[in-house]
Amino acid sequence: MIITLKEAAKKISEAQKIILTAHIIPDGDAIGSTLAVMQILRSIGKDAQVYIDDTVRHNLHCLPHFEEIRRPAEGEKVDADLLLVLDTSVDRIGNVGKITDAPILNIDHHVTNTGEGCDLYVDPNAAATCELVYNLALELNATITPDIATCIYTGLATDTGFFQFSNTRAETLDIAAKLVKCGVRPNFISEKIEEKTLQEVIGLRYALNALKIFFGGKVVGMMLDYNIMKNFESTEGFIDEIRVIDTVDVAFLLTERKPNYCRVSMRSKGMDVAKIAAELNGGGHIRAAGCTLLMSLAEAEKLLTETIGKLMMADGRLTEEEFSTAVRTTDFAQ
Ligand code: 5GP
Ligand code: MN
Repeated sequence: MIITLKEAAKKISEAQKIILTAHIIPDGDAIGSTLAVMQILRSIGKDAQVYIDDTVRHNLHCLPHFEEIRRPAEGEKVDADLLLVLDTSVDRIGNVGKITDAPILNIDHHVTNTGEGCDLYVDPNAAATCELVYNLALELNATITPDIATCIYTGLATDTGFFQFSNTRAETLDIAAKLVKCGVRPNFISEKIEEKTLQEVIGLRYALNALKIFFGGKVVGMMLDYNIMKNFESTEGFIDEIRVIDTVDVAFLLTERKPNYCRVSMRSKGMDVAKIAAELNGGGHIRAAGCTLLMSLAEAEKLLTETIGKLMMADGRLTEEEFSTAVRTTDFAQ
Protein backbone atom coordinates (compact mmCIF):
# COMPACT_ATOMS: atom_id res chain seq x y z
CA MET A 1 0.00 0.00 0.00
CA ILE A 2 1.27 3.48 -0.86
CA ILE A 3 1.59 5.70 2.22
CA THR A 4 2.79 9.26 2.95
CA LEU A 5 6.01 10.33 4.66
CA LYS A 6 3.98 11.28 7.77
CA GLU A 7 2.43 7.80 7.88
CA ALA A 8 5.86 6.21 7.42
CA ALA A 9 7.23 8.32 10.31
CA LYS A 10 4.26 7.24 12.48
CA LYS A 11 4.97 3.55 11.80
CA ILE A 12 8.59 4.09 12.79
CA SER A 13 7.56 5.96 15.97
CA GLU A 14 5.33 3.06 16.98
CA ALA A 15 8.11 0.45 16.64
CA GLN A 16 10.96 -0.04 19.10
CA LYS A 17 13.24 -2.67 17.57
CA ILE A 18 13.91 -1.90 13.92
CA ILE A 19 15.98 -3.76 11.34
CA LEU A 20 17.21 -1.75 8.37
CA THR A 21 18.30 -3.02 5.00
CA ALA A 22 18.87 -2.03 1.37
CA HIS A 23 19.58 -3.70 -1.95
CA ILE A 24 22.28 -6.24 -2.71
CA ILE A 25 25.24 -4.91 -4.74
CA PRO A 26 24.82 -1.87 -2.48
CA ASP A 27 25.74 1.61 -3.70
CA GLY A 28 26.30 4.89 -1.86
CA ASP A 29 22.58 5.59 -1.57
CA ALA A 30 21.86 2.12 -0.15
CA ILE A 31 24.63 2.25 2.47
CA GLY A 32 24.27 6.00 3.12
CA SER A 33 20.51 5.78 3.69
CA THR A 34 20.59 2.73 5.99
CA LEU A 35 23.48 4.04 8.11
CA ALA A 36 21.85 7.49 8.34
CA VAL A 37 18.49 6.08 9.41
CA MET A 38 20.18 3.75 11.92
CA GLN A 39 21.77 6.77 13.63
CA ILE A 40 18.59 8.85 13.39
CA LEU A 41 16.56 6.06 15.02
CA ARG A 42 19.11 5.50 17.79
CA SER A 43 19.12 9.24 18.50
CA ILE A 44 15.38 9.11 19.22
CA GLY A 45 15.72 6.09 21.51
CA LYS A 46 15.07 3.21 19.11
CA ASP A 47 16.97 -0.04 18.88
CA ALA A 48 18.20 -0.06 15.25
CA GLN A 49 20.54 -2.37 13.34
CA VAL A 50 21.57 -2.52 9.66
CA TYR A 51 21.80 -5.86 7.83
CA ILE A 52 23.04 -6.04 4.22
CA ASP A 53 23.27 -9.42 2.51
CA ASP A 54 26.31 -8.65 0.38
CA THR A 55 29.85 -7.37 0.48
CA VAL A 56 30.24 -3.60 0.26
CA ARG A 57 32.65 -1.88 -2.10
CA HIS A 58 35.75 -0.58 -0.28
CA ASN A 59 35.00 3.10 -1.04
CA LEU A 60 32.00 3.08 1.29
CA HIS A 61 33.85 1.60 4.28
CA CYS A 62 34.76 5.12 5.41
CA LEU A 63 31.16 6.00 6.26
CA PRO A 64 30.45 6.52 9.97
CA HIS A 65 29.28 3.28 11.69
CA PHE A 66 30.05 1.19 8.59
CA GLU A 67 31.72 -1.45 10.82
CA GLU A 68 28.38 -2.10 12.54
CA ILE A 69 26.70 -3.43 9.39
CA ARG A 70 25.97 -7.14 9.71
CA ARG A 71 25.38 -9.82 7.11
CA PRO A 72 22.66 -12.37 7.98
CA ALA A 73 24.06 -15.77 8.95
CA GLU A 74 22.55 -19.01 7.61
CA GLY A 75 19.22 -19.57 9.40
CA GLU A 76 19.65 -16.48 11.62
CA LYS A 77 16.48 -15.10 13.26
CA VAL A 78 16.21 -11.66 14.84
CA ASP A 79 13.45 -10.33 17.05
CA ALA A 80 12.11 -7.06 15.58
CA ASP A 81 8.96 -4.90 15.35
CA LEU A 82 9.69 -3.48 11.91
CA LEU A 83 11.82 -4.23 8.87
CA LEU A 84 12.65 -0.97 7.12
CA VAL A 85 13.72 -1.54 3.50
CA LEU A 86 15.47 1.42 1.86
CA ASP A 87 16.40 2.26 -1.75
CA THR A 88 14.87 -0.88 -3.29
CA SER A 89 11.72 -2.93 -3.60
CA VAL A 90 11.60 -5.84 -1.14
CA ASP A 91 12.70 -8.44 -3.70
CA ARG A 92 16.36 -7.32 -3.81
CA ILE A 93 17.40 -7.68 -0.14
CA GLY A 94 18.83 -11.20 -0.29
CA ASN A 95 18.30 -13.21 2.89
CA VAL A 96 17.51 -10.24 5.16
CA GLY A 97 13.82 -10.91 4.51
CA LYS A 98 14.23 -14.32 6.13
CA ILE A 99 15.66 -13.17 9.46
CA THR A 100 12.44 -11.59 10.72
CA ASP A 101 8.67 -11.87 10.24
CA ALA A 102 8.17 -8.23 11.29
CA PRO A 103 5.94 -6.04 9.09
CA ILE A 104 7.82 -4.29 6.30
CA LEU A 105 8.02 -0.55 5.73
CA ASN A 106 9.59 0.39 2.40
CA ILE A 107 11.04 3.84 1.60
CA ASP A 108 12.32 4.27 -1.94
CA HIS A 109 12.69 6.55 -4.96
CA HIS A 110 12.58 3.95 -7.75
CA VAL A 111 9.80 4.57 -10.25
CA THR A 112 9.55 0.80 -10.85
CA ASN A 113 8.71 0.03 -7.18
CA THR A 114 5.01 -0.85 -6.79
CA GLY A 115 5.18 -1.74 -3.09
CA GLU A 116 3.69 -5.20 -3.28
CA GLY A 117 3.08 -6.81 0.12
CA CYS A 118 4.19 -3.87 2.25
CA ASP A 119 3.66 -0.22 3.14
CA LEU A 120 5.60 1.92 0.68
CA TYR A 121 6.54 5.57 0.79
CA VAL A 122 7.94 6.28 -2.68
CA ASP A 123 8.90 9.51 -4.40
CA PRO A 124 10.29 8.91 -7.91
CA ASN A 125 11.14 12.62 -8.21
CA ALA A 126 13.66 12.37 -5.41
CA ALA A 127 17.21 12.08 -6.74
CA ALA A 128 18.14 9.60 -4.02
CA THR A 129 16.55 7.71 -1.15
CA CYS A 130 18.81 9.88 1.00
CA GLU A 131 16.67 12.92 0.04
CA LEU A 132 13.72 11.12 1.62
CA VAL A 133 15.85 10.21 4.63
CA TYR A 134 16.64 13.89 5.20
CA ASN A 135 12.90 14.70 5.20
CA LEU A 136 12.22 11.70 7.47
CA ALA A 137 14.78 13.02 9.97
CA LEU A 138 12.92 16.36 10.06
CA GLU A 139 9.59 14.55 10.44
CA LEU A 140 11.00 12.57 13.41
CA ASN A 141 12.46 15.77 14.95
CA ALA A 142 15.95 14.23 14.93
CA THR A 143 19.09 16.35 15.06
CA ILE A 144 21.30 15.93 11.99
CA THR A 145 24.77 15.30 13.38
CA PRO A 146 27.88 15.58 11.16
CA ASP A 147 27.96 11.74 10.94
CA ILE A 148 24.32 11.52 9.85
CA ALA A 149 24.87 14.38 7.38
CA THR A 150 27.91 12.58 5.90
CA CYS A 151 25.86 9.44 5.23
CA ILE A 152 22.95 11.35 3.67
CA TYR A 153 25.26 13.51 1.52
CA THR A 154 27.01 10.38 0.20
CA GLY A 155 23.69 8.99 -1.10
CA LEU A 156 22.82 12.30 -2.77
CA ALA A 157 26.27 12.58 -4.35
CA THR A 158 26.52 9.01 -5.64
CA ASP A 159 23.00 8.77 -7.11
CA THR A 160 23.41 12.09 -8.95
CA GLY A 161 27.00 11.51 -10.17
CA PHE A 162 28.08 14.35 -7.88
CA PHE A 163 25.13 16.56 -8.78
CA GLN A 164 25.55 16.20 -12.55
CA PHE A 165 22.79 13.80 -13.68
CA SER A 166 19.34 14.92 -14.78
CA ASN A 167 17.79 13.75 -11.49
CA THR A 168 19.61 16.60 -9.68
CA ARG A 169 16.89 19.07 -8.71
CA ALA A 170 16.71 22.24 -6.64
CA GLU A 171 15.65 20.25 -3.57
CA THR A 172 18.70 17.98 -3.93
CA LEU A 173 21.09 20.94 -3.94
CA ASP A 174 19.16 22.63 -1.15
CA ILE A 175 19.46 19.56 1.08
CA ALA A 176 23.14 19.16 0.13
CA ALA A 177 23.80 22.78 1.16
CA LYS A 178 22.05 22.21 4.50
CA LEU A 179 24.14 19.06 5.06
CA VAL A 180 27.35 21.01 4.43
CA LYS A 181 26.16 23.44 7.12
CA CYS A 182 25.70 20.40 9.40
CA GLY A 183 29.39 19.53 8.98
CA VAL A 184 29.80 17.52 5.76
CA ARG A 185 33.14 17.86 3.97
CA PRO A 186 32.30 17.35 0.25
CA ASN A 187 35.94 16.89 -0.76
CA PHE A 188 36.43 14.06 1.78
CA ILE A 189 33.44 12.18 0.34
CA SER A 190 34.35 12.69 -3.33
CA GLU A 191 37.98 11.65 -2.74
CA LYS A 192 36.89 8.42 -1.02
CA ILE A 193 34.11 7.58 -3.46
CA GLU A 194 36.19 8.15 -6.58
CA GLU A 195 39.23 6.27 -5.30
CA LYS A 196 40.04 3.11 -7.29
CA THR A 197 42.43 0.25 -6.61
CA LEU A 198 45.06 -0.56 -9.23
CA GLN A 199 43.14 -3.78 -9.91
CA GLU A 200 40.01 -1.78 -10.74
CA VAL A 201 41.87 0.40 -13.22
CA ILE A 202 43.32 -2.72 -14.84
CA GLY A 203 39.74 -4.11 -14.98
CA LEU A 204 38.65 -0.98 -16.83
CA ARG A 205 41.35 -1.65 -19.42
CA TYR A 206 39.83 -5.10 -20.07
CA ALA A 207 36.36 -3.59 -20.24
CA LEU A 208 37.34 -0.93 -22.78
CA ASN A 209 39.04 -3.56 -24.82
CA ALA A 210 35.74 -5.42 -25.03
CA LEU A 211 33.79 -2.38 -26.22
CA LYS A 212 31.10 -3.06 -28.83
CA ILE A 213 29.21 -0.51 -30.87
CA PHE A 214 25.62 -1.27 -31.83
CA PHE A 215 23.04 0.36 -34.11
CA GLY A 216 25.46 2.76 -35.75
CA GLY A 217 26.75 4.13 -32.43
CA LYS A 218 23.56 4.97 -30.52
CA VAL A 219 24.20 2.03 -28.19
CA VAL A 220 27.54 0.91 -26.77
CA GLY A 221 28.26 -1.95 -24.43
CA MET A 222 31.04 -3.71 -22.62
CA MET A 223 30.94 -7.43 -21.96
CA LEU A 224 33.08 -9.01 -19.21
CA ASP A 225 33.04 -12.78 -18.89
CA TYR A 226 33.39 -14.77 -15.68
CA ASN A 227 37.07 -15.56 -16.31
CA ILE A 228 37.87 -11.85 -16.22
CA MET A 229 35.25 -10.85 -13.64
CA LYS A 230 36.50 -13.29 -11.01
CA ASN A 231 39.70 -11.24 -10.75
CA PHE A 232 37.94 -7.95 -10.01
CA GLU A 233 36.04 -6.84 -6.94
CA SER A 234 34.14 -4.02 -8.59
CA THR A 235 33.17 -2.53 -11.94
CA GLU A 236 31.86 0.65 -10.35
CA GLY A 237 32.22 3.63 -12.68
CA PHE A 238 33.14 1.61 -15.79
CA ILE A 239 29.89 2.51 -17.51
CA ASP A 240 30.50 6.22 -16.92
CA GLU A 241 33.56 5.99 -19.16
CA ILE A 242 31.43 5.04 -22.19
CA ARG A 243 28.12 6.84 -21.58
CA VAL A 244 29.93 10.08 -22.48
CA ILE A 245 30.60 9.00 -26.11
CA ASP A 246 29.01 11.67 -28.33
CA THR A 247 26.86 9.35 -30.50
CA VAL A 248 25.54 7.33 -27.55
CA ASP A 249 22.01 7.31 -26.22
CA VAL A 250 22.21 4.03 -24.25
CA ALA A 251 25.36 2.57 -22.69
CA PHE A 252 25.44 -0.78 -20.95
CA LEU A 253 27.80 -2.98 -18.98
CA LEU A 254 27.16 -6.71 -19.05
CA THR A 255 29.07 -8.77 -16.50
CA GLU A 256 29.01 -12.54 -16.00
CA ARG A 257 29.23 -12.81 -12.19
CA LYS A 258 28.81 -16.59 -12.12
CA PRO A 259 28.32 -19.04 -14.99
CA ASN A 260 24.82 -18.35 -16.39
CA TYR A 261 24.34 -15.35 -14.06
CA CYS A 262 24.77 -12.00 -15.83
CA ARG A 263 24.24 -8.53 -14.41
CA VAL A 264 23.21 -5.62 -16.60
CA SER A 265 23.79 -1.92 -15.86
CA MET A 266 22.36 0.67 -18.23
CA ARG A 267 22.71 4.44 -18.51
CA SER A 268 21.04 6.75 -20.99
CA LYS A 269 20.95 10.30 -22.25
CA GLY A 270 17.36 10.19 -23.55
CA MET A 271 15.87 6.69 -23.72
CA ASP A 272 13.90 5.44 -20.70
CA VAL A 273 16.16 2.54 -19.62
CA ALA A 274 13.85 1.66 -16.69
CA LYS A 275 11.42 0.53 -19.41
CA ILE A 276 14.09 -1.73 -20.95
CA ALA A 277 15.06 -3.12 -17.52
CA ALA A 278 11.40 -3.74 -16.60
CA GLU A 279 10.95 -5.71 -19.84
CA LEU A 280 13.77 -7.98 -18.57
CA ASN A 281 12.37 -8.24 -14.99
CA GLY A 282 14.70 -5.58 -13.58
CA GLY A 283 14.11 -1.97 -12.65
CA GLY A 284 15.62 1.40 -11.86
CA HIS A 285 15.27 4.95 -13.10
CA ILE A 286 14.77 6.60 -16.51
CA ARG A 287 18.51 7.31 -16.91
CA ALA A 288 20.00 4.43 -14.85
CA ALA A 289 18.60 0.94 -14.57
CA GLY A 290 19.61 -2.70 -14.39
CA CYS A 291 18.57 -6.33 -14.35
CA THR A 292 19.85 -9.87 -13.93
CA LEU A 293 19.83 -12.34 -16.83
CA LEU A 294 20.15 -16.04 -15.98
CA MET A 295 21.86 -17.23 -19.16
CA SER A 296 25.26 -17.29 -20.82
CA LEU A 297 27.04 -14.02 -21.62
CA ALA A 298 26.49 -14.47 -25.37
CA GLU A 299 22.77 -15.16 -24.90
CA ALA A 300 22.47 -12.19 -22.54
CA GLU A 301 24.17 -9.89 -25.06
CA LYS A 302 21.77 -11.00 -27.79
CA LEU A 303 18.62 -10.65 -25.65
CA LEU A 304 19.71 -7.31 -24.18
CA THR A 305 20.70 -5.64 -27.44
CA GLU A 306 17.56 -6.90 -29.22
CA THR A 307 15.40 -5.55 -26.39
CA ILE A 308 17.20 -2.20 -26.36
CA GLY A 309 16.94 -1.94 -30.16
CA LYS A 310 13.24 -2.84 -30.34
CA LEU A 311 12.21 -0.49 -27.54
CA MET A 312 14.31 2.35 -29.00
CA MET A 313 12.66 1.80 -32.37
CA ALA A 314 9.22 1.83 -30.75
CA ASP A 315 10.19 5.15 -29.13
CA GLY A 316 11.33 6.60 -32.47
CA ARG A 317 14.94 6.78 -31.27
CA LEU A 318 16.25 4.31 -33.82
CA THR A 319 15.41 3.80 -37.50
CA GLU A 320 15.04 0.32 -38.98
CA GLU A 321 18.19 1.01 -40.96
CA GLU A 322 20.16 1.84 -37.80
CA PHE A 323 18.66 -1.22 -36.08
CA SER A 324 20.10 -3.48 -38.77
CA THR A 325 23.59 -1.89 -38.76
CA ALA A 326 26.33 -4.45 -38.14
CA VAL A 327 27.94 -4.56 -34.69
CA ARG A 328 31.43 -3.06 -34.53
CA THR A 329 34.14 -4.04 -32.10
CA THR A 330 37.22 -2.10 -31.08
CA ASP A 331 39.93 -4.44 -29.97
CA PHE A 332 42.68 -2.07 -28.89
CA ALA A 333 45.00 -5.00 -28.22
CA GLN A 334 45.34 -5.67 -31.94
P1 5GP B 1 23.39 0.08 -11.31
O1 5GP B 1 23.60 0.07 -12.79
O2 5GP B 1 24.09 1.23 -10.66
O3 5GP B 1 23.64 -1.24 -10.67
O4 5GP B 1 21.84 0.35 -11.13
C1 5GP B 1 21.19 1.48 -11.65
C2 5GP B 1 19.84 1.63 -10.99
O5 5GP B 1 18.98 0.54 -11.36
C3 5GP B 1 19.89 1.63 -9.47
O6 5GP B 1 18.97 2.56 -9.00
C4 5GP B 1 19.51 0.22 -9.10
O7 5GP B 1 18.93 0.16 -7.85
C5 5GP B 1 18.54 -0.18 -10.23
N1 5GP B 1 18.69 -1.61 -10.53
C6 5GP B 1 19.80 -2.23 -10.97
N2 5GP B 1 19.57 -3.56 -11.15
C7 5GP B 1 18.29 -3.78 -10.80
C8 5GP B 1 17.47 -4.97 -10.75
O8 5GP B 1 17.89 -6.09 -11.07
N3 5GP B 1 16.19 -4.79 -10.32
C9 5GP B 1 15.70 -3.57 -9.95
N4 5GP B 1 14.42 -3.50 -9.54
N5 5GP B 1 16.44 -2.44 -9.99
C10 5GP B 1 17.71 -2.53 -10.40
MN1 MN C 1 19.12 5.18 -4.88
